[in-house]
Amino acid sequence: MRYLPMFRRIRRQSCLVIGGGDVAARKVAMLLRAGADITVIAPKASPTIHDLKKVGKISLHLRRFETTDISNQAIIISATGVREIDEMVAATAAKASIPINVVDNPDISDFIFPAVVDRDPMIVAVSTGGAAPVLAREIRSAIEVLLPSSLGNLIRNAEKLRTTVRSHLASVRERQRFWARYFRGWRTATLTGNKNILNQNKQNFLKSVFTEQDGHVAIVGAGPGDADLLTLRALQHLQDADVIIHDRLIGPNILDYARRDAEQINIGKAFGKHSHNQNEINILLAHHASLGKHVVRLKGGDPFVFGRGGEEPEFLQAQGISVEVIPGITASLGCAASAGIPLTHRNATQSVTLLTGTSTNELATHNWHALVATGATLAVYMGLGTANQLSNALIKAGMHGDTPVAVIENGTLATERIVVGQLAELERLLAENAIRSPAMLMIGDVVDQYQISDSKRRKEQQLLAAAS
Ligand code: SAH
Repeated sequence: MRYLPMFRRIRRQSCLVIGGGDVAARKVAMLLRAGADITVIAPKASPTIHDLKKVGKISLHLRRFETTDISNQAIIISATGVREIDEMVAATAAKASIPINVVDNPDISDFIFPAVVDRDPMIVAVSTGGAAPVLAREIRSAIEVLLPSSLGNLIRNAEKLRTTVRSHLASVRERQRFWARYFRGWRTATLTGNKNILNQNKQNFLKSVFTEQDGHVAIVGAGPGDADLLTLRALQHLQDADVIIHDRLIGPNILDYARRDAEQINIGKAFGKHSHNQNEINILLAHHASLGKHVVRLKGGDPFVFGRGGEEPEFLQAQGISVEVIPGITASLGCAASAGIPLTHRNATQSVTLLTGTSTNELATHNWHALVATGATLAVYMGLGTANQLSNALIKAGMHGDTPVAVIENGTLATERIVVGQLAELERLLAENAIRSPAMLMIGDVVDQYQISDSKRRKEQQLLAAAS
């Protein structure tokens, strides 16, 4: 870490700003928001600075900096834009051990200013340690969008409520739960665009927050692997969850997005050996929810696509536990996009079928003739173990042995591998390339598009290699 992030109280402390231009004015504005006593020293000052002096917000001395100016200052900012003066101010401050910021010169600064999102009393500060200020500002803008302007009010209201909450709820855990519900309720209201709900129905809202005891289960699709493919709502649930119960098939970085102190339970199922049966999982979910916790049941891809996402809600609802399903990007869609294989194509393929290759460790039962007759692209989940039988069944039902097939292993992840071949040689293709689970099989003419995009990719790589 290049700098220690911290927030420093500056209210009613003397701060010195050297320089009177627009940059200095921006620093003055920031210091004023934090309540500092500001003195500006500069031979010339911008209208903004003159105005602030006129209304008594700052002291202004229209003259050059002198080394004696720095005595009794808490911090100093040099924004003269003249290198020699900035360096002189910095040297003087260093001698007196007063922290200094020289604008645009981190080398002689003790501290730097981050890009700031201000939802007073909440402040988000972003810094790249001076390495890429433009990037810091872009990240700041992205965060600005995420945090509605009402957030400041909400926090101030929460502050006012603290004593009431403390007197009503004895244990720390109960209070944590209250606040989690309070902020979640607000977030839902803002997410649905219903920002006034909290103010209009404040009493009702608080009552429901105080009395709500039941937990909640969100069955959340984690997408195919790449954490960037999480939905915003999945992310919100991950950050809210008290308990996260997840499968083996979760991308490696997905859980980095979970709340730090959330309990994480891995109930991964390896192919063919079920470490927990579905009933045990149902009971586990219900147990945590009945303790009043926000439970996230995280599943690879989409919960409703070969995710047994139908069974858990049914069980939980029967127990009277509230449950919702958050969709995720299913593996076939993630893999298709990542490989550049469109699942449908205007001229060739008008439909796509998602199917499983395996059912209870055997080749799944399908109406093979019907599957082939539609001409649909086949996106096969769990097809590795039964690939040979699958290709035989399709060929027997009339599909050509030279139908193109793509195998996408670890789709969307850094470890992604794609191999293409023909249906009749599927087994050899898998063996020769030592393909491991998880992998999708894509079968159909659209796979030819991969070759096209792949050759384009290769050409680009050659160009890049030639250029470097
Ligand atoms: N609910 C999940 C599917 C679970 S079934 C979804 O919607 O994606 C598990 C199968 O999904 C695996 O056997 C494999 O065929 C496929 N799969 C999941 N993640 C994958 C990935 N990153 N790359 C390739 N296939 C994947």
